[in-house]
Amino acid sequence: FNVPTPHNEPVKSYAPGSAERKELQAKLKELRAQEIDVPMYIGSEEVRTGKKKPLSPPHDHQHVLGYFHEGDASHVEQAINAALGAKYAWEHMEWEQRAAIFLKAADLLAGPYRSKINAATMLGQSKNAFQAEIDAACEIIDFLRFNVKYMAEIYQQQPPVSGDGVWNRLEQRPLEGFVFALTPFNFTAIAGNLPTSAAMMGNTVVWKPAYTQIYSANVLMEVFREAGVPDGVINLVYVDGPTTGNVIFNHPDFAGIHFTGSTGVFQHIWKTIGENIYKYKTYPRIVGETGGKDFVIAHKSANPKAVAVGLSRGAFEFQGQKCSAASRAYIPSNLWDEVKQYLLDDLASMKMGGTEDFTNFINAVIDEKAFDKISKYINNAKKAEGVEIIAGGNYDKSKGYFIEPTVILTKDPMYVTMCEEIFGPVLTIYVYHENHYEEALELVDQTSPYALTGAVFSQDRYAVELATKKLRNAAGNFYINDKPTGAVVGQQPFGGARASGTNDKAGSMINLLRWVSPRTIKETF
Ligand code: GLU
Repeated sequence: FNVPTPHNEPVKSYAPGSAERKELQAKLKELRAQEIDVPMYIGSEEVRTGKKKPLSPPHDHQHVLGYFHEGDASHVEQAINAALGAKYAWEHMEWEQRAAIFLKAADLLAGPYRSKINAATMLGQSKNAFQAEIDAACEIIDFLRFNVKYMAEIYQQQPPVSGDGVWNRLEQRPLEGFVFALTPFNFTAIAGNLPTSAAMMGNTVVWKPAYTQIYSANVLMEVFREAGVPDGVINLVYVDGPTTGNVIFNHPDFAGIHFTGSTGVFQHIWKTIGENIYKYKTYPRIVGETGGKDFVIAHKSANPKAVAVGLSRGAFEFQGQKCSAASRAYIPSNLWDEVKQYLLDDLASMKMGGTEDFTNFINAVIDEKAFDKISKYINNAKKAEGVEIIAGGNYDKSKGYFIEPTVILTKDPMYVTMCEEIFGPVLTIYVYHENHYEEALELVDQTSPYALTGAVFSQDRYAVELATKKLRNAAGNFYINDKPTGAVVGQQPFGGARASGTNDKAGSMINLLRWVSPRTIKETF
């Protein structure tokens, strides 16, 4: 099975004066000057309902980038029917043909569409150029190329033994029915990966993105269509969550969900699927990546500068809107003064503003709802006892949803911002006695219901080993002397357990195996 050996797509630097920066700036200007009309894509149709809703940059919410057409329950029905209608031809297509389509999509994103997908992510989701490049260019390209490699390996897997007069074989069928991809705003790559990884394995998909990611989802769809994804294989609908769920989860052909989003929504979906279980032809696959309350713990031997950099990048890149973002830290008393100084200096150098100015590191949070939720945590912290805001703390939504990177210092390791997911630029720090490392590790494990990512910083190998053992179940992605964000496809398969998800490791064969239902065939001669 000869598929190209994947390499991680090199990250462009967008250095001042570079051709790539000029091209991206021109694309930003071009997109800002347009008002696009975004249809749903159902089967071969571009569906315009006339119920138009505006798309705006979170950092400039009065500017209109375009309008999308919102649908209703009938469009979800149509999307399911289109998916079921396209299924036979798609699942019986040779897998190499399917592979070629997704490899072409990766090449389109790496080349002619790179500045467009990056600019759309910068404008629509308020990601700076560097964060957009990592996500909307490199990560989705890597997902597509590496998944093709895993796909080839999966189709190759066969039972190792066939005795005399017997031939055993395994046939990798797609799931029986349609797959529902429910995707988040925070990574364009995840929004692209959830429908394509299921589709690659011969499934047809109904894709509902977060409304706040529709602007870049539309570009992804343009790429998928140009790459040759046939009509009906991926159907993109914009319908509110409850209406969509009501149609999808009551349908007898619902065969699986590929989800990234909040823990609450995922738990509700799981419960609904359970309640409807007698309606389905097959047990649906439930694959979800949900919340996180990701930790950084430093040992007294750690390098304080490395800790501070891990915290500032881990907590504040993309305004902390990553499931993996560092949001609680445990710092030993001997290092605190130095860590604090490095951290405050680093934060002071982070400019905040719109994504069109490449010198802005911090941009806006995604929407008003997020802004209100995050600022409430900050406001409460201002009034709480034993809690001090040592950096940031200001917010303003007059032009865009801007919240300063905020650091809360607490004397109580169970203070609410140490325990609850905030999904914004808020980091809470607890300083523990330098000789109580083991107790601090226990706190890390017991403070939150989540187990997505976490990091330990230490120069002492025994302390690294102790953290690795004690925190065995506290994170699905565990980092030693590095920030807990930025998993790279093909290098660090990503996902967590406990309240963080089903841990089906995005960007790995484990994930792709969820989208097939193997048939064993034994033949006796
Ligand atoms: N894979 C991303 C990372 O490692 C996080 C994905 C998410 O926020 O859902 O930072």
